[in-house]
Order: sequence, then C-alpha cells, then structure tokens
Amino acid sequence: MSNAPEDIFKNVISHAKEYGFVFPSSEIYDGLSAVYDYGQNGVELKNNIKTYWWKAMVQMNENIVGLDSAIFMHPMIWKASGHVDGFSDPMIDNKDSQKRYRADQLLEDKIAAYDQEGKTDLAELLQSEMDAALKNEDLPRLRELIIEYEITDPIGGSKNWTEVRQFNLMFSTQMGAIAGEADVVYLRPETAQGIFVNYLNVQKSGRMKIPFGIAQIGKAFRNEVIARQFIIRMREFEQMEMQYFVRPGTQLEWFEKWKETRLKWHLALGTAPEKYRYHEHTKLAHYADAAFDIEFEFPFGFKEVEGIHSRTDFDLSQHQKFSNKKMQYFDPELGPDGKPYGNYIPYVIETSIGLDRMFLLTMINAYEEEDLSTEERQDSRTVLHLHPCLAPVKAAIFPLTKKDGLPEKAREIMDALKVDFNLQYEEKDTIGRRYRRQDAIGTPFCITVDHQTLEDDTVTIRYRDTMQQERVKAADLQKIIGDLVSWKNLLG
Ligand code: ATP
Repeated sequence: MSNAPEDIFKNVISHAKEYGFVFPSSEIYDGLSAVYDYGQNGVELKNNIKTYWWKAMVQMNENIVGLDSAIFMHPMIWKASGHVDGFSDPMIDNKDSQKRYRADQLLEDKIAAYDQEGKTDLAELLQSEMDAALKNEDLPRLRELIIEYEITDPIGGSKNWTEVRQFNLMFSTQMGAIAGEADVVYLRPETAQGIFVNYLNVQKSGRMKIPFGIAQIGKAFRNEVIARQFIIRMREFEQMEMQYFVRPGTQLEWFEKWKETRLKWHLALGTAPEKYRYHEHTKLAHYADAAFDIEFEFPFGFKEVEGIHSRTDFDLSQHQKFSNKKMQYFDPELGPDGKPYGNYIPYVIETSIGLDRMFLLTMINAYEEEDLSTEERQDSRTVLHLHPCLAPVKAAIFPLTKKDGLPEKAREIMDALKVDFNLQYEEKDTIGRRYRRQDAIGTPFCITVDHQTLEDDTVTIRYRDTMQQERVKAADLQKIIGDLVSWKNLLG
C-alpha cells in the first residue's frame, strides 16, 4: 500500500465504487463523461450532508427559509443574468491529439508545476499575465502565453495549438412538441437565479424582513469543456446555495460574517484547519464587489469547494430591467435621519457550495488504510472515519450465529431502532469480517447479539474508530446511538 497522494485519490475512487458510494454513469455502455451516479451508501451520505447544510442554514436561522425552484426557467432569465452572452470558458484544441482543453486551466497547471519546482518567480509572473489576459478577455493573448511558456499537450506532448475560442457552458433543449428557436430552454447552470426571481414571492408570503436569506439545494448543469478529477468537475452536479438579502451599504459586513460562518460549518466536522484556506478573487466578476473561495487541500492540490460572493444588486436589477417588474423591497425601519429606509433593491451575499465536491472532500478526509499488525500477525483495515451524523449506516446489528434464536432476537432489537436510525442487519461471515465491511462504509457502531443477550438482554457494542467493545443493555441502545449521532454534536 502506498500513501502517495495520487494513490490515495485512486484508492478512494475505487473504494467509492466497490462499496456503493459512486458509480460511473451508464457504465454498461462504457460510461458518460463527467456524469456519475450515487449508489446505496453514496445517496445516504449525500442526504446527510444536505441535512447538515439545511439545518445549519435554514433550521438554525429564523430569517432564512428554503425554496425548491424548477430546473427549467424562462429563457429570458439567462439573458438577464448574463449567462447567454457571458457564461463561457476559453477553450483551445490541440491539432495533433484533437483534444480540447480550457486555456486558463493549462496555464494554471503550468503555474502549479512552477510552484512545485520552486520557480515561484515564474509562477507569479505567469499568474499575473494570465489574470490580465482573462480580465481583458484577450483570447489571442491566452494563446500567446501557452506558446511562450512552451505548454505541451498533457496527452501527446504536442505544441500544435489552435486559436482560443469562447465556449458557452449552458446546455439547451426544446420545450413543447415543436422544436424551434423560440422554444429553447436551458438547463440551469446555477440554482441562484431561481432564488432571485422568487425573492419577492418568498418575502411577501413569508413576511420576511431584511436581512433575510433564501436557501436552495438542487441540480445544476454545465457543459464543462474538460471534465476531470472524478466528481470535482461534473456536467450534472448539485449545489447548495443561499442568497442573503441586505440593505445596500451593509453588504461587506455581511460578507465577512458569512465568510466566517461558512468556514466554521466546514471545520465543525473535525477537519484539520490547515486543510482549508481562503482564496480571494482578484479578478472579480462584473457583478461582484467581493469574492472569496473556501478551498480544501485535495490530494491533487487546493481546490474550490465553496464560493462566497457579494453580488451587489446586479441580479435583481437585471431582472427588474428585463421583466419590467419592480424588484424593490420596502424597508419600514427608520434610518439615522429618522425616516424609513423606504424602497430599494437589496444587495445580495451568496454562499454557494458544490455538494459533490463536499462529498468527495468528506470521503477523502474520512478514508484511512490502517495498519493493525501486531508482532504475531499482519493485519490491516480500510476505514471511513465519517462523522457519525454523516455516516450512511448508523449501526449494524449482527447475531453471533444464525441459530439458537439469535437472528430473531437481533431482528427484534433492530425493529425497535430502525424508525430512528438507518441500520443494517448482517448474519453472514465471521464477526471480524462483518466489522471490516462496516468499517469500510463508515458505520460508527456494530451491535452483536449473542447467547448472553437471550439471558440478560445485553449486547456488545463495538466502536468503529477505537475498535473497543463494551457490554450494554439493549434497552439503552436508543439513547447511546441517539446521543452519538445527534445533530447537536455538530450544531449545538
Ligand atoms: P470552478 O472555478 O471550479 O469551475 P466555479 O467558480 O465556476 O468553479 P461557482 O460557479 O462559484 O463555481 O459554483 C459554486 C460551487 O459549485 C463551486 O464552489 C463548486 O463546489 C461547485 N461546482 C461548480 N462547477 C462544478 C462542476 N462542474 N462540478 C461539480 N461541482 C461544481
């Protein structure tokens, strides 16, 4: 077993498949690029991450409410938001390999390589030249940089590059029976616009007062030019976004607050703080007046997991302009001059986290190939040290043997607990093997029912991380498990 980061990453990917977390989509047809399916354990882990987010954002904040807007929206929304004209990546093809790349990504890889080689001067120079070219949308300059810095095709090593072109990332399809220009609809590339166009519906029906937030979890679609690094860059993925509506002029205070609050949410899971860092955007999107990413150190380097953006009143103003409907909020509170703040278009702070990236981060953080060898014998296990709140299966129930009434007793215990917890019943193989299988999917507790259980209603509970066992009353299991998987441990 090797502990090199790239090997760990490969091992996590194969572990995710072997244990029913993530499968390549349409695998029997050789897969579909950058699309993945979540298996029986993956869907549970994903749901638990969603619950953690939803509770932290909606349930714990009286002034934040949820929304579930449709994926299809009026095509004008994407005109107003700027996605039809501007949501594109600079792309370049290699003429020899016929492979397509994102020009900025090729340059970023070169910068990372310079950094690794200790050539920080070159890394900084290239970074600033690339930033300038991207800021000015100077596509020929991006190509020049690729040529000047002798960037070769990662596949064939060729330097034979095409021009750089913009490539729109939105998927489109037709709505209705007759396909025509007018019927084009897009698959949303972000969930945020569904929040913006509903903000007054929610504000009025919920009698929300500024500052307030709207949170949404849902699918987003981007026709990424290059898809790579497993579920980091997918064409169909899920976002958990919250838009926080504030009084103009107060946005930077709220921005700071959300930046800190969101990092705390990540760290509460017990991740080592040095695995996280903030990355400040120096090149701001046209609508933003501040933007930070929360980055996590994946085995292949730091990568954005969540963005916190101060989006000003750009989106709401654009929708007001394009729909001809007033997007103003009336603020009855009195300002410093003793008069109500009155009508204005709120400013917006957005927190936007990729659920799939959070899923991968969680798997990587939890994954351990643990050496359990003693002087007498070699032994090891693969274990997912998932936070009990996130674990797909909370406890596994094993009858020691398949006879003597033990399965019936185990089922009886399971039936009493399964309303509250996702449990698994297993009677095959030795207890040791069953422990290993549960360790591999991150089950925090295994409960063994044996002959003594029939006499005194006690069971053995075995803890995943310490592998220690203790004898407890079956009647106490509800409380023991309940306390250890309680959301209070994360949110209390
Ligand atoms: P990147 O620079 O990595 O393409 P982005 O800045 O375009 O990401 P945002 O538009 O800010 O990303 O989206 C918010 C979050 O959605 C990101 O932080 C990321 O976690 C997630 N995300 C974005 N694109 C993808 C994708 N193609 N696959 C999976 N998750 C994604």
